[in-house]
Amino acid sequence: MPDVRMHLHTPADPGRGVVVSNERCTAGKSSSFVRHVVIDIAETRLAGHFRAGQSFGVIPPGLDTHDKPHKLRLYSIASPTQGEGGKANHLATTVKRTIDEHWENHRLFLGVASNYLADLQPGDPVTLTGPNGKRFLLPDDPAAHDYLFIATGTGIAPFRGMLGDLAAGAFPSGAALLMGSPYATDLLYHHELTDLAARQANFTYLTALSRQAQPDGQPAMYVDGRLRTHREQLTALLASDRTLIYICGIAGMELGVLQALAEILPPAALEQYMQVDPGVAAEPKAWTRRMLHRELKLSRRIMLEVY
Ligand SMILES: Cc1cc2nc3c(=O)[nH]c(=O)nc-3n(C[C@H](O)[C@H](O)[C@H](O)COP(=O)(O)OP(=O)(O)OC[C@H]3O[C@@H](n4cnc5c(N)ncnc54)[C@H](O)[C@@H]3O)c2cc1C
Repeated sequence: MPDVRMHLHTPADPGRGVVVSNERCTAGKSSSFVRHVVIDIAETRLAGHFRAGQSFGVIPPGLDTHDKPHKLRLYSIASPTQGEGGKANHLATTVKRTIDEHWENHRLFLGVASNYLADLQPGDPVTLTGPNGKRFLLPDDPAAHDYLFIATGTGIAPFRGMLGDLAAGAFPSGAALLMGSPYATDLLYHHELTDLAARQANFTYLTALSRQAQPDGQPAMYVDGRLRTHREQLTALLASDRTLIYICGIAGMELGVLQALAEILPPAALEQYMQVDPGVAAEPKAWTRRMLHRELKLSRRIMLEVY
């Protein structure tokens, strides 16, 4: 992994970014609100010191319910390492509004930082920390590897940046992206990714819709379902000793992915990605999240970031 800079700004010494643009990044009528927010970081120490795959902190203004300043929330960098749109001082993120009902009184619950960020207008200042993260990155020599990226929801953000990095280097590797969302209208950066797949023979873009049938008529499925339907194509990629797997998105998605890998890969190939306790190896369907990092130990060839 490359050596990266971290915590150049901390909550005690934050930086001040300025919003450049804030656009909706779902197409059509989506049940969720996700925005692509571009921030100018020229006046912060993040300038020139972030990599695709890292995240940064946002500190919302105001006080929490205990009258303490709000704590920072992390957001993944959705830009390539060279910056958003080729501008080194511009960094983007993909923010989903947290909207719910309060558990105790069923009143409207609005997540503090996500709604603050999603409301920001061009020219507004934003208090930042970071960068954060040193493992969810492309390796030092990206051309030495091939990639399987698996995303749900805003988990697409780091992969958009990484794909930008690969594209900037003439796309030297094979890469497949499996993107999961409830409906087709929730797919993020769909046109951008479809275009990239049309231009780059090395890049495969597959989607999995979990609450509607697929465009090809197959039934609703999660991303792990796509591993099964594209078993042949993906096992060829996964059998290569060059391949790295990156998983990012909703906490809980990793279990289904690991179960599907166990189902589609021969034991010798599976071993390259995870060490499975012999006591549970025979029954992937019975695996639980609690087994992760205990009975199911991931190798250095799987990178996981779920939240
Ligand atoms: C490494 C990393 C990268 C991330 N990247 C992204 C990203 O790229 N995009 C993105 O959108 N998010 C990302 N997140 C998630 C992000 O950090 C925030 O957690 C998310 O935006 C919610 O923050 P919030 O301030 O809006 O919600 P908060 O105000 O923090 O609300 C969420 C909290 O409220 C509680 N809560 C939730 N629902 C209810 C309810 N109904 N009633 C009462 N309490 C409730 C929960 O316990 C939770 O602690 C990332 C997280 C991590 C760790």
